[in-house]
Amino acid sequence: MSTLLKVNNLIKHFPVTKGFFQKQVGAVKSVDGISFEIEEGETLGIVGESGCGKSTTGRALLRILEPTEGEVLFDGVDIAKLPKKELRAFRTNMQMIFQDPYASLNPRWTVQQVLEEPLITHGNLTKTEVKQRVTELMELVGLSPQQASRYPHEFSGGQRQRIGIARALALNPKFIVCDEPVSALDVSIQAQVLNLMKDLQQKFSLTYLFISHDLSVVKFISDRVGVMYLGKLVELSPTKSIFAEPLHPYTKALMSAVPIPDPEIKREQIVLSGDVPSALHPPAGCAFHTRCPVAMDICKTLVPKWSEVSGGRKVACHLYEQNHTKEEQGSCH
Ligand code: SF4
Repeated sequence: MSTLLKVNNLIKHFPVTKGFFQKQVGAVKSVDGISFEIEEGETLGIVGESGCGKSTTGRALLRILEPTEGEVLFDGVDIAKLPKKELRAFRTNMQMIFQDPYASLNPRWTVQQVLEEPLITHGNLTKTEVKQRVTELMELVGLSPQQASRYPHEFSGGQRQRIGIARALALNPKFIVCDEPVSALDVSIQAQVLNLMKDLQQKFSLTYLFISHDLSVVKFISDRVGVMYLGKLVELSPTKSIFAEPLHPYTKALMSAVPIPDPEIKREQIVLSGDVPSALHPPAGCAFHTRCPVAMDICKTLVPKWSEVSGGRKVACHLYEQNHTKEEQGSCH
């Protein structure tokens, strides 16, 4: 497998302005310097509480939101710096599936029009070829091509998400950002849509960035999982190992809330104190130190670096830093 996407120090800050002259007085640090890679054909799940910056990350990767800083190398091309005109052509490689398919589909357009639009805008197809492609897309997502003359409101939530998936596939992309694609659906429908996404991934060697707050969904679909807290990635691990043995104290707390299907196994839930701090004034040092049950003095002042742990795992926590001394660990409180 080769690397399809390489993200280096991605930052997305939203300026906060004040007064008549709109003077910038601060910035909401939604995404605050994250780096990761995605292999071709892989699914990288991104989890975290709401407001942690996971959706902003997805949008900044595709430049639906302009990144403040950083590199997004797609097949070696830095999307973050592509001129607008080139970006438009390049976007055919990268698509997005949204959480609420209804809001992302034009209610005045039939499904035929929804699926034709990208083909007409970006493709070099004849009218007959466009029609054929729409039929093919409907079949690919398990809908009848005859239903293409209907409007989005005539479909169920699950069917609408299938239409959203068909639209994302229209231009044969390599990479799709899936932003909470099943969280608005009933649990029984969720499984069908997730299975469809897995099948399509295999068929077309798709690469997914899968954003969700639902850990069981992420466990089902992802090869690796990245955990975000206040705009930063705090842990990145293969799915199996992160669920079996989470390393970062924040990941441990998140995982402890996932029910275990075996009644014999007891697991104590770690309840974090306090709320997530504001991204306008994130705490100094480790952003998690205000809620971390094992925080040390060093955590209040020094931002933890990535530590590589065996098995392709990475964690940003002072507890795992090589040169971290026993005395410092002894001052846990
Ligand atoms: Fe907790 Fe410190 Fe690790 Fe942050 S760096 S997670 S505060 S132990």
